[in-house]
Amino acid sequence: MAEFALLMACLSPHSYMRRTQKNMNPIAVYIHIPFCIHKCSYCDFNSYAGLDFLTRDFCEAIQREIQGVRGLEREVASVFFGGGTPTYLKAEQLNSILNAVRDVLPFAKDAEITSESNPANSDRQRFDGMRQGGFNRLSIGVQSFDDRILRIAERQHTSEDAIAAIAYARNAGFDNINLDLIFSLPEQSLEDWRVSLLNAIDINPEHMSTYALSIEEGTRFERMHRNQTLHQADEDTELEMYEMAIEQLTKAGYEHYEVSNFCRHGKQARHNLTYWLNEDYLGFGPGAVSYLGGRRWMNEKRPAAYIRKVNEREPLAIQEETLSPADALSETLILGLRLRSGVSLKSIQDRFSIDPFQRYSGLIGELISEGLAELDGDTFRLTHRGLLYSNDVFIRILP
Ligand code: SF4
Repeated sequence: MAEFALLMACLSPHSYMRRTQKNMNPIAVYIHIPFCIHKCSYCDFNSYAGLDFLTRDFCEAIQREIQGVRGLEREVASVFFGGGTPTYLKAEQLNSILNAVRDVLPFAKDAEITSESNPANSDRQRFDGMRQGGFNRLSIGVQSFDDRILRIAERQHTSEDAIAAIAYARNAGFDNINLDLIFSLPEQSLEDWRVSLLNAIDINPEHMSTYALSIEEGTRFERMHRNQTLHQADEDTELEMYEMAIEQLTKAGYEHYEVSNFCRHGKQARHNLTYWLNEDYLGFGPGAVSYLGGRRWMNEKRPAAYIRKVNEREPLAIQEETLSPADALSETLILGLRLRSGVSLKSIQDRFSIDPFQRYSGLIGELISEGLAELDGDTFRLTHRGLLYSNDVFIRILP
């Protein structure tokens, strides 16, 4: 195993790992699978179509990268396979990567182990295999139940495929399922969005994520936007869509626990809670980000270069930074405000030894007087109005 210790020395700063390895706080693990069958019109994620020929080398490389953290004494509370499309890979390949994590890190008994899946490559055999391999949560990228809109977004599946994928997941024994939905898609009316929401509610998943479409640089939608051929809802309609999601989902008994996320009682996405609480996580795979003890780094993004660098034991990090306590405090405040339960200013003070009341004295008062946030004891949280304009609030908190 000496070679893997050496590899890790290249992957991330070794002295740093030594400093943190006795920290027994649980940790989250993110695995990035960069493959997709087709690039969707809105997607700027680190995902690639047409790289089928790389999958086998990728699976070997990522397992090698994972082996490099042997010796880090942190218990894994959650693992999340995202991408890209994890279900582009076979169940056996996904299970081998998961087993590689198990080989080097202890798992909590009730660890949440999630994989994203695309209905275009979700089938009975794959889900059965993944469930047997230890995955206990699926996040299915439904996005819309309207086939016309799915075609515009260049999703490679129909609403019927999504319904079939959910049935395969249930049959395989998954009792913790998230559905991802997007609103403000081109040509989508308020009524179209309502129908998608009602379809999702009928299926009764344990969790739902609803995000507004954002137009990202380099995507087909961005080119259409520039050419003025993208027919998207205006800002007011987008806000109405968001409010409709809150209204319909809470009426159906879902708890609105984060700006964009809803769940049945006790079914919060535990992996994502790590991000919202700004706690430590380790990321593996191309473009994966790790955050450990205030240090953050990002892996090489291009899959072929990632594989080569792992195999040749070259440094993987292409960006890294150590956050100052003041910057980490701002990030923790912004991320914590995403949670409807808000954020305890006292606990932030204890964590960073900076008094947030002093640092943000003017801003906290302004946000409260503008009706965007409220203070309840030392808990600072967004109001309903703050939720609607959350991005504007977050920009004001940025250092
Ligand atoms: S399936 Fe997901 S990751 Fe892949 S191109 Fe579409 S949106 Fe991007």
